[in-house]
Amino acid sequence: MSLSVRILGASGGIGPGRRTTSILIDDDILIDAGSGVGDLRLEQLRRIRHVFLTHSHLDHIAFLPMLADMVYHPDAAPIHVHGLPATLQALCEHVFNWVIWPDFTCLPRPDQPLIRLEPVQPEQTIHLGHRVLRVLPARHTVPAVGYSVSHRDGAAFAFSGDTTSSRQLWPALNALPNLDLLMIETGLPDEMKGMADLAKHYTPQHLREDLALLKHRPRIAITHCKPGHERAIRQQLAHSPHHAGMIFLHGNEHFVLDADHSRTTAS
Ligand SMILES: [Zn+2]
Ligand SMILES: [Zn+2]
Repeated sequence: MSLSVRILGASGGIGPGRRTTSILIDDDILIDAGSGVGDLRLEQLRRIRHVFLTHSHLDHIAFLPMLADMVYHPDAAPIHVHGLPATLQALCEHVFNWVIWPDFTCLPRPDQPLIRLEPVQPEQTIHLGHRVLRVLPARHTVPAVGYSVSHRDGAAFAFSGDTTSSRQLWPALNALPNLDLLMIETGLPDEMKGMADLAKHYTPQHLREDLALLKHRPRIAITHCKPGHERAIRQQLAHSPHHAGMIFLHGNEHFVLDADHSRTTAS
């Protein structure tokens, strides 16, 4: 048994070959629903039963309305959309409001809607078959969380979502029994620290400092780099803790995390 982590989108922007944040866990769980969802075939979209949103920003939710529309059928199985109460409220008010998009939270019938909203809180755990998801704290311009996914047999993945330096994130990661792969954002390079502080994204300097707090030794996968600044961010992280084996995600990687932690493959 193993945990499949397929990166569908990992860019801080758009352009040829760039897709915004989305991760497919096994074949039925999405974490965020950015433009990377657009590469899934119809039969893959139909298998998604759970979407875990980190926050309400457009680059993380943009393709959720399209996903709902693609799989919609009067007898379609529901999609459980998990997020902080503020995230779910923003979706209802600003997206599924009959103006921007039909309200799939009450279609086809209000008592049996396609989209079932499931509020979460930091540190909550959610059991889905042989996987356990844990809600991780994050610090961003809107209420935000990250998620970890642990296989019953031990393999574990964690994703920070969008966050700046957070005193709560690292103790939460250290509290996991183990961690094989950590996907963490570095939105802007050090020379754009002012903008990064305003937009509450990590810079390489902040991430270097915080990675020293991590007790686990996972592979580190950097995501959400702003297009045009990827090279600078990579160079500025070159001497960070855990740099050996650090991966800079493009958005087409597939990791298979083995239960005995002995193999992490990417393709
Ligand atoms: Zn954001
Ligand atoms: Zn973002």
